[in-house]
Amino acid sequence: LDYAGYLKSWIRTVPNWPHDGVMFRDITPVLQNPKTFRLLIDIFVHRYMDQKIDMVAGLDARGFILGSVLAYELNVGFIPIRKKGKLPFTTVAEEYELEYGNATVEMHTDACKAGDRIVLIDDLIATGGTMMAGYKLLTRLGAEVIETAAIVDLPELGGSKLIKDKQIPLFTICDFE
Ligand code: 5GP
Repeated sequence: LDYAGYLKSWIRTVPNWPHDGVMFRDITPVLQNPKTFRLLIDIFVHRYMDQKIDMVAGLDARGFILGSVLAYELNVGFIPIRKKGKLPFTTVAEEYELEYGNATVEMHTDACKAGDRIVLIDDLIATGGTMMAGYKLLTRLGAEVIETAAIVDLPELGGSKLIKDKQIPLFTICDFE
């Protein structure tokens, strides 16, 4: 069975959102249907269940939806990596470039410890800036990122190549041109 192709068929494309010229890949239909939601999560669960994972880290905000369910299924804890200014305790921060301007993600300084084996998850890789910023936060605290993971890769935007060129493992389920 072509699970990847099947899941891809449930991703909705919204033209010209959030601004003109963007084809936004909307994963909410996958979450809306219980069978596709379960299939999606099960792909990640089976990939990581025997990898001695200590924690799952999720990127704000769709990475929280995937990552918290994955962590629960793997019976490990969850780390939220949030947009700037949302976390109450002491944080580490990484700034990265967007199409227009910059963004910053933050993580609590006690979210993980050196040597922890972590899966870092988001819904989609575009330029790779968000995933790389999350990766840097985790590795700054000494964690070992076993793999970065997403549902969708947009290879034309170069993020997946950038990540792989840095020898960082990346798993994605499907691509859109
Ligand atoms: P990047 O940092 O790789 O350029 O952008 C990826 C981030 O932006 C992810 O957190 C992702 O949720 C969001 N993003 C950018 N474009 C899209 C899109 O077309 N669909 C979805 N679902 N998220 C997107």
